[in-house]
Amino acid sequence: MPNYDFDLFVIGGGSGGVRAARVSAEMGARVAIAEENRFGGTCVIRGCVPKKLFVYASHYAEELEDARGYGWTIEGARFDWPTLIRNKDRAIAHLSGIYRKAVENAGGTIFEDRAVLKAAHTIHLVKAKRDVTAATILIATGGKPSRNIAGAENCIVSDDAFHLEKLPKSMVIVGGGYIAIEFAHIFQNLGVETTVVYRGPKILRGFDDDMRDMLQDTMQKKGIKLVLNAALGSFEKKGGLVRARLASGESLDAEQVMLAIGREANTADMGLEQAGVALGKHGAIQVDELSRTTVPNIYAIGDVTDRLNLTPVAIHDAMCFTRTVFGHKPTKPDHNLVATAVFSQPEIGAIGLTEEAARTKGYTLDIYETNYRPLRHALSGRDERALMKLVVDAKTDRVLGCHIFADEAGELVQLVAVAMKMGATKAQFSAAVAVHPTAAEELVTMRRKVVAGRVPQGANEIG
Ligand code: NDP
Repeated sequence: MPNYDFDLFVIGGGSGGVRAARVSAEMGARVAIAEENRFGGTCVIRGCVPKKLFVYASHYAEELEDARGYGWTIEGARFDWPTLIRNKDRAIAHLSGIYRKAVENAGGTIFEDRAVLKAAHTIHLVKAKRDVTAATILIATGGKPSRNIAGAENCIVSDDAFHLEKLPKSMVIVGGGYIAIEFAHIFQNLGVETTVVYRGPKILRGFDDDMRDMLQDTMQKKGIKLVLNAALGSFEKKGGLVRARLASGESLDAEQVMLAIGREANTADMGLEQAGVALGKHGAIQVDELSRTTVPNIYAIGDVTDRLNLTPVAIHDAMCFTRTVFGHKPTKPDHNLVATAVFSQPEIGAIGLTEEAARTKGYTLDIYETNYRPLRHALSGRDERALMKLVVDAKTDRVLGCHIFADEAGELVQLVAVAMKMGATKAQFSAAVAVHPTAAEELVTMRRKVVAGRVPQGANEIG
């Protein structure tokens, strides 16, 4: 075997890349990793983590309002954006340091540099102007927000939202996916007049219809404006504002327009074609079931492969990669039954099939649903309801899907994922005695089938 500088060279220090580098080094491999920005990648630096901190920040607005019903008088409450940004930046810098240290402590070599492929085993370090070689190369360069729309230069994207100098008075958010919905809640709760412009009839395409309806109603009650079925024309600067022109001829003015129209794989100018690595749809790297590219010693994981673009999936891909390459046990990533959460307020937690998808697949279904007013709002006075739904295969009683619209739905669905990965049936859900009074108990106390249509509102008041 030729004498390479490293056993493994990882390009990209995000969730997937760092995990693969650290674990491979711990398994005894000689590992190097290159990151051109900061360690932590999208999730830590400009995604999940700072976003969740923003969610916490914005949720205090509702907590402060809700506290009144519980006897609290809170005077002079004010929100200061620069304080949030400063504290968030400090937390992120700390986390980024932990990511970097994790690789160093495992004995990995770090290059703070842009790495591009020169050949199947050769990597060029752009700043250092030198080449290194490796037996195996792993590409984990993630993705970036798409700006593929006319007039995008007048808009911001989620990366920019984490560094705005001041909170705008008004914001238009374009898109109806995770990012648009999460940021709409963040900004509206922080006092920004927020409008979501979506090209389809209903936000969050791909999620269960009942959840989408419920979320839309709740968003509108919070004052978030929804402009649906809206094809976009262009964006232009007008005075201190940005004007979003719709194809219908209408226009919307706001201090900031944020594009949340999907993400693109980071594959440009990386020498991929030169090394023989084929790209698939939307410029993502094409991989087989073991995350191997069209070049046998080059692998790719995470968002750059555009399979299931979620941080924990990239980490799972990384673990499978290390087992395959350094554990000599070919391990395919399992992307089946992956739970996910949309950090709207309340959140959506989802796993498995939606009712619509299950019907399309030909299942005969028992649908269980509960729509109730959470106990907390008995005193807060907030006009907000929760919705939970189980999609069950009528023939086997197996739970095919679970959909939750409630506070902490992300926490709830994580535990449901354990049961569903074990193939739990509705009878097994029901065999678990409830923890009372909680929201989670609704998941084990649904008794009534709603084969078609919805449970009438109020059918399950307060658990
Ligand atoms: P999504 O793919 O989720 O949503 C993109 C949205 O933009 C869709 O509503 C889509 O409409 C719309 N859109 C796409 N192209 C255009 C266009 N040209 N003009 C107008 N609208 C358009 O992307 P996001 O940017 O919200 O998020 C990217 C990914 O990041 C997610 O898919 C997810 O994997 C990940 N993520 C996960 C989070 C979590 O786990 N909580 C949080 C944030 C991001 P249509 O529905 O019609 O296609």
